[in-house]
Parts: sequence; structure tokens; C-alpha cells
Amino acid sequence: MNRLSRDLEKAVLGQAKEAANKMRYDVTCPHCQSKINVPVGKSLCPKCGKQVNLSLDFEF
Ligand SMILES: [Zn+2]
Repeated sequence: MNRLSRDLEKAVLGQAKEAANKMRYDVTCPHCQSKINVPVGKSLCPKCGKQVNLSLDFEF
């Protein structure tokens, strides 16, 4: 019983962590103005292949 709930907790935590790391956002590529869906951090635009750096602080 105890062991089962511990394993379950571990599995749920692992999934939540994975989901957070895989969060993707719809943004407009600053290079080619395409609507793209990229994860947080540095990634490559699938349209033009240039680097897109998505950060999550919304400061203007
Ligand atoms: Zn692009």
C-alpha cells in the first residue's frame, strides 16, 4: 500500500516535470514572422532555421 502510493507519487511528479519542460508556446518568429510553436529557451525556427530565444519574463 505504502510502496504503491510512493511509486504513484514519483510517477506523477516525473510526469509534471516532463510536461513543464515540454511546454511549448505559439509565437511569431522575429526573423521570418511565421507563426511557430517553440519550447521555452533557445530553439530553431522550423520555418527559417534561425535561432529563437523564448524567455518567459514579460517585461516591456
Ligand atoms: Zn523563422
